[in-house]
Amino acid sequence: MSLKEVRGVVLFNRKHRERDYLVKIFTDQFGKLMFFVRGSKKSSQSLEQAIQPFANAKYIADIRNEGLSFLRDTKELNLMNHIYGDMFKQAYATYLTNLADAALEDRVVDPSLMVELKSALEAINEGKDPEIITNIYEIHMMKWFGVEQEWKACVVCRETKGNFDYSSQYNGLLCSRHWYLDERRYHLSQRTLYFIRLFSRTSFKQIGNISVGDETKRELRSFIDSLYEENVGLHLKSKSFIDHMYDFEKLHVDWSKRKKGTD
Ligand SMILES: [Zn+2]
Repeated sequence: MSLKEVRGVVLFNRKHRERDYLVKIFTDQFGKLMFFVRGSKKSSQSLEQAIQPFANAKYIADIRNEGLSFLRDTKELNLMNHIYGDMFKQAYATYLTNLADAALEDRVVDPSLMVELKSALEAINEGKDPEIITNIYEIHMMKWFGVEQEWKACVVCRETKGNFDYSSQYNGLLCSRHWYLDERRYHLSQRTLYFIRLFSRTSFKQIGNISVGDETKRELRSFIDSLYEENVGLHLKSKSFIDHMYDFEKLHVDWSKRKKGTD
């Protein structure tokens, strides 16, 4: 047995028997691996904390080529405490980890995707708008799903200025001179296109307090949903949870109004 030190992000954990855990961690050197963590009264508290979803740390581990690997210790633990206490942030963080899990086979090494996920989770934890962080991440993630789109310039003439629209047929932007080529272009607002193009070349660190109006947010959400439906075709439970979360909110608001009315 040789212990290795790897950096990783926890995707999820689940209890195994009474005290033990199975934990899936996206590591930089070995890709996504399932670890067995034996829980005992003696086991260090930091190890129990370090297997919480979305946490990142350096893990000291016995990595096996087949089956489960084993966690021994951890250091430089980074907990996502502001995500755990917030249902909305938690829902988005779960969706982001599910996307990374779906985009890559286990044991395939891809440190850049691990860093992408880690940075997105940290941005949500720092209080940046989870809807916008999710949109940026989804646009970036298309590359990992093998369906990267052209967001820099018109796919026909390479124009980078002026008005654009998105075309599924051309997998990218068309400038207004070439709109005639696709009758079924999206007719997106220029504001939404501006943000999509910005998101495609922005890192999470560069995003300060970017402010996007509600209407543009809705258009971004429905556009990215169509992009994913057409190109990726995933149906994650965590995503439909997010979609329904807003219905619950509305329901909740309506009920409280109704209660006031009848009292
Ligand atoms: Zn053009």
